[in-house]
Amino acid sequence: MAGIKIRNLQKVYRDGKDRTFEAVKKINLDIEDRDFVVFVGPSGCGKTTTLRMIAGLEDITDGEIYIEDNLINHVEPKDRNIAMVFQNYALYPHMSVYDNIAFGLKNRKVDRKTIQQKVEEVSTVLDIKKELHRRPKELSGGQKQRVAMGRAMVREPKVFLMDEPLSNLDAKLRVQMRNELIKLHRDFDATFIFVTHDQVEAMTLANKIVIMNEGEIMQVDSPENIFNKPANTFVAGFIGSPQMNLIKGTFNERNFTSDAFRLPLENLSLNTTLKDETPLILGIRPEHFEVVQKADSTTLVLTVHITENMGSYQNIYCHLNDQSVTIQTSDHHNFAVGDELIVKPINGKIHLFDGKTEKTLLTI
Ligand code: ATP
Repeated sequence: MAGIKIRNLQKVYRDGKDRTFEAVKKINLDIEDRDFVVFVGPSGCGKTTTLRMIAGLEDITDGEIYIEDNLINHVEPKDRNIAMVFQNYALYPHMSVYDNIAFGLKNRKVDRKTIQQKVEEVSTVLDIKKELHRRPKELSGGQKQRVAMGRAMVREPKVFLMDEPLSNLDAKLRVQMRNELIKLHRDFDATFIFVTHDQVEAMTLANKIVIMNEGEIMQVDSPENIFNKPANTFVAGFIGSPQMNLIKGTFNERNFTSDAFRLPLENLSLNTTLKDETPLILGIRPEHFEVVQKADSTTLVLTVHITENMGSYQNIYCHLNDQSVTIQTSDHHNFAVGDELIVKPINGKIHLFDGKTEKTLLTI
């Protein structure tokens, strides 16, 4: 059982004498045994720092980390039963693939026969058996990645930490490695923690996504809930491509009202009572509009700016007064720049956020 508990975890970097920077701001997180957790967020949000504190590669400023209910703040990295796979693979260039995978076991004086057996096992799983005699420089990016995984796997860790391990691979290999990671997680009795800034990796790999921004956790949830029930405008805008439209307005007589249109909010289940004139942000994903022929008070009349033909669907980037609104549709329309496009939000598909706190106003 390798559940991980993170309590009020903080990292403050001190650069120079007085200047400090709080990279991780007292975060709390529960990771269950065998979870596949993905930390995702923009560059500099504190993902890697958090991962490195779990690995023991970075000092903890404040707070606690528990693995299997044991406080590990002061446990040596090698004694944490954790294996880390880095973005740059960190393979030994002068050693063969076999020796790279076997290195940690040799250091621990594991007997030769056991080493051979383990290397054989993982190289079969990772499909690099034919490469065992080669040096890293003779391998493709994907093969190097698998060797790095193999080196971590032979140690049979309880927790795998991976820092952007797929970022050096081309698009096709990424998809392949993603599938292999899912398989590996299924077959391997370990907890996986994976860091990326790629939302597709997060959505496809995780059973639990942790979205970070500026050293704080914005939401921890299943991929479905992160997409369908974003806790705030940051999460709403971060996951989904093209990103969710966020339109400013106010609450008036049970309607969302803006200069451009009005939307009845009666059918929504709100987590608070709103007073008239409360500032609101309405969230609608590009794919959640229908194109209509006639304008009325509840439709949006947009001006087409750019159209993007994606094959099976079309992205239409528009203007609504001074705001941008993106529409995605699988029906093919031949719009030209400057054309008028009338759309209506699909019932039941809208999100509503507080205009000040930017937190969701829907019950989730
Ligand atoms: P990326 O996706 O770019 O790797 P990240 O979310 O993993 O970003 P971190 O590497 O955890 O971000 O960095 C968090 C913040 O801490 C960043 O603003 C970074 O500049 C800062 N930081 C990281 N290491 C140090 C350091 N050694 N000294 C000072 N500041 C640091």
